[in-house]
Amino acid sequence: MSMTHVIHRSLLNTPRLAHSSQGITITDSNGRSYIDASGGAAVSCLGHAHPDVLHAMRAQMEQLAYAHTSFFTTAVAEELADHLVQHAPQGLKNVYFVSGGSEAVEAALKMARQYFVEIGQPQRTRFVARSQSYHGNTLGALAVGGNEWRRKQFEPLLMDVGRVSAAYAYRDQRADETPEQYGQRLVAEIDAKFQAMGTDTVIAFVAETVVGATAGALTAPPGYFAGVRALCERYGILLIADEVMCGMGRTGTLHAIEQEDVVPDLMIIAKGLGGGYQPIGAVLAKDHVVESMRRGSGLFQHGHTYLGHPMACAAALAVQKVIQRDQLMPQVRARGHYLKAALQHRLERHAHVGDIRGRGLFMAVELVQDRDSKSTFDPKRKLHAAVKAQAMEHGLMCYPMGGTIDGQRGDHILLAPPFIATEADIDQIVERLALSIDAALKATV
Ligand code: PLP
Repeated sequence: MSMTHVIHRSLLNTPRLAHSSQGITITDSNGRSYIDASGGAAVSCLGHAHPDVLHAMRAQMEQLAYAHTSFFTTAVAEELADHLVQHAPQGLKNVYFVSGGSEAVEAALKMARQYFVEIGQPQRTRFVARSQSYHGNTLGALAVGGNEWRRKQFEPLLMDVGRVSAAYAYRDQRADETPEQYGQRLVAEIDAKFQAMGTDTVIAFVAETVVGATAGALTAPPGYFAGVRALCERYGILLIADEVMCGMGRTGTLHAIEQEDVVPDLMIIAKGLGGGYQPIGAVLAKDHVVESMRRGSGLFQHGHTYLGHPMACAAALAVQKVIQRDQLMPQVRARGHYLKAALQHRLERHAHVGDIRGRGLFMAVELVQDRDSKSTFDPKRKLHAAVKAQAMEHGLMCYPMGGTIDGQRGDHILLAPPFIATEADIDQIVERLALSIDAALKATV
């Protein structure tokens, strides 16, 4: 391609030119098609060019494209909030609309802090979060996140956050532990961290319900989130669930936390909320948090120009209505089982596949040098990058990442296919992925 004036993610390579998209594929300017098996980064839950969403966006654009939220509310924002609350875990009755995941995380952190100021506990100033997690790239979200390579050069600018272990059974559950005991050990570690910091200084515990890009579809052991919820209750600490990636149906229930039988005080959603048709994110908040602000200063001391953008709300409302109308949650569960079985069938005995994990249509494959010792490939080999490149050569978009274990070591590949993917689509995805892994192993010897 000729010279670019865009600051691309890599300043050394300009990516392929995306030309058009339809269903589960994106086509580039050379006419080559790619199955979008990762929904970009777990975004495109309905695939591309869904007619109902396009129709809703056109209608909204004709009627009202933008109205600043300091002057107006809009019917579409109200309706989307009603819809989300109607389908949210009990008690999450309030919605704050922003333009993406990081913005939603920032809003949640500030809302949690303001809550404690409003109720007369201003000494609460710190967050606790997990290693090998990602909460976004703005400074507050980056500080809370435990993604080492993303944080490294910005570390001096980041607020101090209490850090506890990831829930990472494949690597950290001991041979003499049951999954439940492993979960209890992790909860005990969080308790010890709260106590070491001073339980009345902590604002909130922040965690992805299912870890996404940083470590690859890590689910928590049974009882873990219930244990965390109980700890938070005991000390008056808020629980913030980051479901930017794992939420909005990706794991087979609209919210991943439903499968943990826990309701967080604040829940953060984005990606699948608008399915990529418009940038949108949101914070869902329990009444006591919002009531404290209503009774206190009367406002949430925050705001952006594009809060509750009507086009974004229209797209998200259409996406969410399709999910309900077409009963896509049972479909995600069924296709998720199918995907897991297909990955196991094709890759379980592969010499360099250590773990296949995840929930619903949110699955990951962890690559290892040696299956017995679980040793990793030399990070200098950049195997994850080679898998991504080879996958594109094989007409497949997947989401590989390195530094799975500690920001340096480990490689995994995340899959997050659209909810509309058929079994035949999934067969193709798994076959292309397997070929891409082998090609990448060969290319990087
Ligand atoms: N939180 C999680 C769990 C994410 O996966 C991401 C993005 O990948 C974010 C927050 C940040 O979202 P965004 O990239 O929309 O700012």
